[in-house]
Order: sequence, then C-alpha cells, then structure tokens
Amino acid sequence: MPPLALRLASVEAPATIAMSVRARALRAQGHDVISLALGEPDFDTPAHAMDAAHGAALAGQTKYPPIDGTPALKQAVRAKFARENGLDFADNEIIVGNGAKQLLFNALMATIDPGSEVVIPTPYWASYPLTVELLGGTPVFAPCLEADGFRLRPEALDAAITPRTRWVILNFPNNPTGAISTRADLESLAAVLERHPDVWILCDEIYEQLNFTAEPHASLAAVAPSLRDRILTLTGVSKTYAMTGWRIGFAGGPAALIRGMSVIQSNATSGASPITQAAAVAALNGDQTIVSVMRDTYRRRRDLVIDALRAIPSLSCAVPEGAFYVYPNVSGLIGRTSPGGRLLATDDDVAMALLEETFVATVPGSAFGLSPYLRLSVASSDEALAQACARFDTFCGGCR
Ligand code: PMP
Repeated sequence: MPPLALRLASVEAPATIAMSVRARALRAQGHDVISLALGEPDFDTPAHAMDAAHGAALAGQTKYPPIDGTPALKQAVRAKFARENGLDFADNEIIVGNGAKQLLFNALMATIDPGSEVVIPTPYWASYPLTVELLGGTPVFAPCLEADGFRLRPEALDAAITPRTRWVILNFPNNPTGAISTRADLESLAAVLERHPDVWILCDEIYEQLNFTAEPHASLAAVAPSLRDRILTLTGVSKTYAMTGWRIGFAGGPAALIRGMSVIQSNATSGASPITQAAAVAALNGDQTIVSVMRDTYRRRRDLVIDALRAIPSLSCAVPEGAFYVYPNVSGLIGRTSPGGRLLATDDDVAMALLEETFVATVPGSAFGLSPYLRLSVASSDEALAQACARFDTFCGGCR
C-alpha cells in the first residue's frame, strides 16, 4: 500500500465516535444498547427550518453559494450576535462554515505554524488537541479541577502561556463538564489575556443557550472589548436548534482572521450548502420557543441523572451548570473488578466494561484529558436515562 501522511501517526478519530461505533455494532448484534456517548440533541429540528430548506431547494438555491455565507445567513448571524451576545459585527467579520468544527479547523489552519502552541484547558472537547496536532502545532494543557467546579483559574491560564502560544481556547458552557463562566470569571481571565497581546483567543460558545444558572451567558468579546480584535467567537445551530446534521456553524471575529479562514474554506469545501443555510436563517430568525423547551428539558434530565448517580456509593458527581453532559468521578471503581471479571485499571476500562456488560455507552474521561471520569450525555429520553443509571448502579454494586 502507498504510504499515508506522517501526521496521521499521532492522530486518531475522537473516542466519542469510537464508543458510538462499538455501541452500534453491539446493537446490530441484537443487544439493547443505551448510548449516552454522543453530544447530540434528541429533539427534532424545528419544522419552520425544514420548510425553509424545502422552499430554498424548490426556489433554485441549488448552486454554489458564496464561500463565507449567504447574505441572508450573514445578516441573521449578525442580528443574533447583536441580540444575544451584545456583539456588533460587520459582514466581513462573519464567516459561515460546515459546522463549528470546520470553522475551528479553518481558524487553526490559518494561523498555526510549526512550533505554535495552543493552550487548551482540560478537560476539553477532544477535537481541539486532535486538530492542533493534525496541523503540526503543540497543545499545551491548563488543568481545570473538579474542586474548582472545573472552572479555569487565571493562574492556570497564565502558567500555560509561553512566547510560542498562538491561541488560547475557551469553551463555556463546557463539553464535557458543563462548567460555565460568569462575567466575573471572564473578567479575571481577560486580565491575564490582556498581558499577552500576541495570542489569539477562541471562544467556543456552541452551548451558549444551555446555561442553567440565573445569570445569562456572557461572551468574552462583550465583557472585555479591549480583547475584541483578537477574539474569534464561535457558535452554530447544532446544539441550540437540534440541527447537528445540517452542518451549519458561524463565527465572528477580526476581518483579517475571517479572511484567512475563508481562504482555507475556499480550498477545502467552498461554502456550506445554500439549502441548509436557508434552514439556519429560519431557525435564527424564527420562533425561539424550542430553545427554552430544550434548555428546561436538559436541566430536568440533568437533575434526574445527578440524583441517580449520587445515590451510587462508588461515584461522585459535580452538578453541571450548562450543556447537556454529566461528568461523574469514577475513582471509586478504579483498581476493582467488574461484575464480568474485568480489571478496572483506568476509566477506559470502566467505560468499556459498562458497555460490554450492561450495554450502556459512555465516553471515558481520558478522551477529554481528565481521568478517571465518564461523560454521559443527558440528551436522551427520561426512560433511557433512568434505565442507564439503574444498569450503572447494578454494575457498581457488582464490582469487587
Ligand atoms: N464545540 C464543542 C465544544 C462541541 O461539543 C461541538 C460538538 N460536539 C462542536 C464545537 C461542533 O459543533 P458543530 O456541529 O457545529 O460542528
């Protein structure tokens, strides 16, 4: 076989996807698998967004779109940033892509040189370090501890920044911990970032609408205007409108960076489908009821799962303040033997034993850079969550 690129040697597909693949295989064998592995809303896309896509296709919006987004979606995104985030952007400060994930890739590819470092707080969304490595950069980790509610402390951020730092990536509400960032937290992080003027700042706010606290979500670019010319604010329709499969993300930031991202995008995928962009316009401009319905549902399910997990003696679990994950600490299981006789040396072992023995798919904390934990998505039905927790309880009870 001809060789594959050297860069692939150190990069694998995210473990979230690996667990889902294994879960699917077990399901295909006839097992009753409950998958809490993927970060995917279990709601339907709003009907008005689907109608808009249908209408766009029938109206002939089936040709190549502009690289950086249709005028209608850019306008809707600008209105959204102004309305929800207190951020005013011009058209050349906005880019639309095939999901926030592609925009992350574009931004890093447009800026990372060999030797560039990217500061990533742990635990993290696995795509951050994987993408940095794919592009020849070096991830540098800043730990967020359970004892601090998984919030990033300014000292930990400061300690991770070096003269080679090209980016700092912030993600609130956080995947996988659900930690949020208050305005005061952002102000203290901004004070550190102000001392490092050569560093780009990526604010991944894809879960911005899933904030369960009384204080609304705050964007760093609005809290710290002095940093605005270095901040890329990244979000999309995947989580807010249950539109993961439509592949629409968008970002607002300085025109020069947006232009660089657009050059990458023009060479990789061109613009996102105009049909799905029309759906995103309808979602952003239309009735927002579904957003609060989903938020309330995830909050209720979080409570249901937290109560069930906290009743299991081997586990402890912080209460997430946003997103749709819980991140229980499984250190009480490490070193023990599963009911099926597997040694549980790591959280990978716990996740695999739980899947193979009880058919509950989760993702080990190792995939997010902080062990020993599991990530469970609460974007599943109440029945599935209750059943999964009951199986987890039986599993823990049977560990020796
Ligand atoms: N950022 C984070 C933190 C995520 O968890 C995800 C989805 N898992 C994304 C970005 C990507 O979202 P999109 O579907 O828009 O690519």
